[in-house]
Amino acid sequence: MKGSSHAVAGAVTGIAISTTMHLNPITTIGMTLLGALIVDIDEEHSKINKILFPVAKENRWLVKALVGAAMIASQINSLQFIGIILLLSLVSARVKYKFSLWNGFQEFKYHRTFFHDPIIGGLLLTAPLYALGLSQALIIPYVVGVLSHYVLDLCTAYGLPLYLLGGKRLRFPIINYHSGNNLMEYGLLACYCVAVFTIAIKPAGFQYLQAFNNQYDFTFTKLFGSLKK
Ligand SMILES: [Zn+2]
Repeated sequence: MKGSSHAVAGAVTGIAISTTMHLNPITTIGMTLLGALIVDIDEEHSKINKILFPVAKENRWLVKALVGAAMIASQINSLQFIGIILLLSLVSARVKYKFSLWNGFQEFKYHRTFFHDPIIGGLLLTAPLYALGLSQALIIPYVVGVLSHYVLDLCTAYGLPLYLLGGKRLRFPIINYHSGNNLMEYGLLACYCVAVFTIAIKPAGFQYLQAFNNQYDFTFTKLFGSLKK
């Protein structure tokens, strides 16, 4: 799936979370966008790599390594986390092995690498945030952003790799399309946006109803209570 599609999904998810949970829309959308795009850091020619490191592709790894090292050298925890992710993405791009208990390590060529593995990537990209002690208002949107990336990539024919399960590929059985099929990609994106808003609107609508009740003192129990008096 294209980086721009992941960005749209991330932004829509951020809007839905900020409305439902009454969070700051700017930081929430920023965190869902970061989560939705960061997974593609392991694909050397992905949009996020091109945006973050707008240099010739043969120099990109060097710039990435320098930026990552500088971030780790800083004393700011969140920057150090991103620095580690950047350096790991350089390693990830060169991992050519899968593992299974039965066959051990075997060669495995796959252009989505271990950040796309929902177990390894999911842990690497999200678990350190809890150790950093960031607020839930930042962690939740970011984690949901990462999940949105996995869900949407699961719908592609390429699927997600499971490095520790013998390189098995995970993908949805019927809904999977080959990259380049824009009709399917935009159709899927539209379905995703509708689904997210439907899930988000329900609790939001319920909260508005509660707020209305509290403001006008108009619940049925109170109405019947006052009739009894
Ligand atoms: Zn991806």
